[in-house]
Order: sequence, then C-alpha cells, then structure tokens
Amino acid sequence: EVGITPLASLLRNGRSPVMLIFRDVSEQGEGAAMRRDFVANVSHELKTPLTAMIGYVETLQGPAQKDEEAQRRFLAHLGQELSRMNRLVVDLLSLSRLEGQSRRKPRDRVDLVALLSEVVGLLAFTASDQQVELVLDTPERADVFGDADQLTQVVANLVENAIKYGRQPGTVRVDLDYVQREPVLRGPAWRMSVIDDGPGIAAEHLPRLTERFYRVDTGRSRQQGGTGLGLAIVKHIVNRHRGRLKIESKPGEGTRIGVTLPAATEPTLS
Ligand code: ADP
Repeated sequence: EVGITPLASLLRNGRSPVMLIFRDVSEQGEGAAMRRDFVANVSHELKTPLTAMIGYVETLQGPAQKDEEAQRRFLAHLGQELSRMNRLVVDLLSLSRLEGQSRRKPRDRVDLVALLSEVVGLLAFTASDQQVELVLDTPERADVFGDADQLTQVVANLVENAIKYGRQPGTVRVDLDYVQREPVLRGPAWRMSVIDDGPGIAAEHLPRLTERFYRVDTGRSRQQGGTGLGLAIVKHIVNRHRGRLKIESKPGEGTRIGVTLPAATEPTLS
C-alpha cells in the first residue's frame, strides 16, 4: 500500500517534494487469511491421527499389556493412523512442490494411452479387491506435451476416487477421446474421462471439490484413507498443463470427471 503525502513545510522553490509511505500488508488481507486457514486445517488434520495414536499407545502401555490379541489390534490401528499421516504429508509435499514450480508448461511428449494403461494396471488389484470392474477404452496413441509423473498422479487420483466413492460392486470406466476443436482451449485436444456408477455428488458441492481439505462426507473420506487434497492437486497439475478439469455428477447415477489437454498430434486412425 503506497500513500503519497505532500510535505507542505518543504514547499520551497516552487517544487513539491513528496514522501512515499510503504506499509507491509503481507500479513493482512485475503492472502493472509487463506494462509491462516490452511495452517489451521493442516494442524487439525495432523492432530486427529496424533490424538488417536496417543490413545493407542496409552492402551498398549496399560490395559492391553497382558492381552496379546488386544496388542495386535491396537498395533494395527497405530499402523493405520501412521499411514494416514504419511499420506497427508506426501500430499502436502506434492502441493508445495507444485506451488514452487515455474508456471511454464512442461514440455515432454507423453503418450496418454501408455500412461492410462499403466495406471489402470497398477490399480487393478485395488479395484478387484473392492469388487470394482475397471474398463479402459482408448485409441491406439494419443500424445500431449507435459510431465508424465504429474499426469500419472492426476489419473491415479481420479481412478482411486472413483473406486473409493463409486459403487461397490460397480464399474469404473476410463475413456480417452479426441476433440477436434475444444472450445475453451481453442484447438485439438485429448479428453480423459473417469466415470463411475456410484451415488454421485450433489450439485452444491461441485464448485468446491478442488478446494484443499474440502470433502462431501468427512467421515467417509477419512475412513477411505482420503486426505482431502487429491482434487486440489489434480486441479493444480491440469492448470499447469493449460488443460481443463470438468466435474459432472448425477446423484444416484454416478460421476464423470474429465481432463482435457491440448493435443500434440492428430489421432491415429484405426
Ligand atoms: P479425498 O482425499 O477426501 O478423497 P479429494 O480431494 O480427492 O479428497 O476429493 C474431495 C471429495 O470429493 C471427497 O472427499 C469426496 O467426498 C468427493 N469425491 C471425489 N471423487 C468422487 C466420486 N468419484 N464420487 C463421489 N464423490 C467424490
């Protein structure tokens, strides 16, 4: 904030000196409020597993000391809380790394078909464990310019969410199609869609889903091992790739999340 104060007392020789007053506003205003909210949220998210872990350790040191079965149970709970904290810290590091990166678009050539096949392969076990059928439908090749690791993170997050919050047993489809002229990107693009047939998301939540720590059902997210940061990370990566993220859902029918990225090549006709 800059204030300009004429110094009347120095008005000599017909010249008008000015004084510039600089005030540090970095800890005021919207940015600071958001930072404070974020720190409060992170502290709360870390406190929840910590409180539970302290309780488990106290039980292990006290009432469960002579009960091997109880010890096994509480150690398993302890392990779950530790993994939850680990996931949270991994996601926080991802976000902070993304925020520290230049805004320049990553420039490696990435084949989305290979990338989607790899993610679907990696998540096949998780899906079948939850009785979810994973169906992949792609053309032969689809190239974009980007960062393969970050795009893998995008697809993995979306497919994991579809498995977690979709129907069990149910089906998750991963489609890839060519869009001749994407209206917002104003050019040819590839659209990856992750579609589930789960309970869906009510319209009022849709605009807020990519906010950090926003969850529709906090209990369900926690129980599923969610951190509330997945879609915030997805949004960040898609923006960095100059792409579009579209979340559509029909309560009772399912959810479709589409990521559209500028195409690097024309599609292979097969
Ligand atoms: P989380 O770690 O909680 O999964 P995300 O940022 O990935 O966090 O997602 C935010 C919230 O969006 C989730 O907690 C869940 O309520 C909702 N959500 C995400 N994907 C789906 C989906 N496919 N179906 C229904 N709800 C979803």
